[in-house]
Amino acid sequence: MVTDPWLELALILAVIYCLELISILPPPRRLLLEGVRRLYLSVSGVILRNPLPWSLTFNTESFPLIFGTEGVYAYEPHQASNRRPPGWGHRFLRYDEIEEHGVEANELKLNGGTFLKLSSEAWAQSCNEALHEVLEAPETTRLAVIRRLVERRLAPTPAAETLQNLRRTLLSARLHGTLLFAALTTTLTLFVATEWARNHWSRFAMLLVLLLLSCVWEFVRVHRRLYPNAVSDRFIKTFILALNLPTACRMAEALARDSLRHHHPLAVLQTSGNPKQFKRLAKQAWLDLTYPAPFAIEPSAEARDTLQTHREFEREALSQLLEHAGVSLKELTAAPQPSSDASWGYCPRCESQFDAATEKCPDCRTPPVPFTRA
Ligand SMILES: [Zn+2]
Repeated sequence: MVTDPWLELALILAVIYCLELISILPPPRRLLLEGVRRLYLSVSGVILRNPLPWSLTFNTESFPLIFGTEGVYAYEPHQASNRRPPGWGHRFLRYDEIEEHGVEANELKLNGGTFLKLSSEAWAQSCNEALHEVLEAPETTRLAVIRRLVERRLAPTPAAETLQNLRRTLLSARLHGTLLFAALTTTLTLFVATEWARNHWSRFAMLLVLLLLSCVWEFVRVHRRLYPNAVSDRFIKTFILALNLPTACRMAEALARDSLRHHHPLAVLQTSGNPKQFKRLAKQAWLDLTYPAPFAIEPSAEARDTLQTHREFEREALSQLLEHAGVSLKELTAAPQPSSDASWGYCPRCESQFDAATEKCPDCRTPPVPFTRA
């Protein structure tokens, strides 16, 4: 039984800090992590972050960037992780049905193409901006606006710039968090271990309050710079930060969390990511676009047309990105190696193999392709 109140406080703060380190990503969410030299994506699962706030630099096994802990891989007709066909729990909207309230929906499809999927406020805002851009355009140019949005999200250059700026911008936030972390752990250790520190508690408390205030100030400053329009998001996060010392220690993460919502993960990975992972994800995205899964719920003809057009835009933008990255499209769509002599064919979309002729892939309902043997 713990009897020392200071020890109890230290334990409570340690538990809160540990909770800060755990990310649970239900499918189809993705987390962008910064590794030793490269960025990489983590997909659905439990992810433990590096416990040290100063480790959020370029030479550690940690990360300051999260893509989609709250929002997710978006504007795609198919969810990337489970690759289900569209129509599962999605809502199709026509242009003329979309109003402000539309962006509060958990998932939003714009005339068939999943335009953005959102749940956090940052995502909602991002969606709102994109949506307004579409809605404000005359009916005749809406497809062109969607095309521009698709291209912007998949373009390799802006993602690289955003990333570089973000890294620079977050340096001082990291330093603030680290100082607070050092002061907090030292103070708690001294309180638990020495009578002297407990007798002078007010000075320690003053130091911590001052450091916390400087963190809050820094947080507001950087947040304003990174997300100038996210006023209410800034207010809520600042409030949480001011009340929670462990969260304040990890403020760089809180700041970076929404930073890449404007870019497709592939665009980011292409510029600074792990090439193997980039290729794997690129293949998945390309196959999803090339062999779209059949609808689970049949949409209207207008929705189907828009989805088709949206898919073409995305294919075009993606093929440019892949060309830029030196990835051969032929290689991506090549037939897989038969897993055994008995293999009859494979699903071109998810690459499951079948021993006997079958009409539909049981996973994604795509018609399989037989192996051609010499
Ligand atoms: Zn399949």
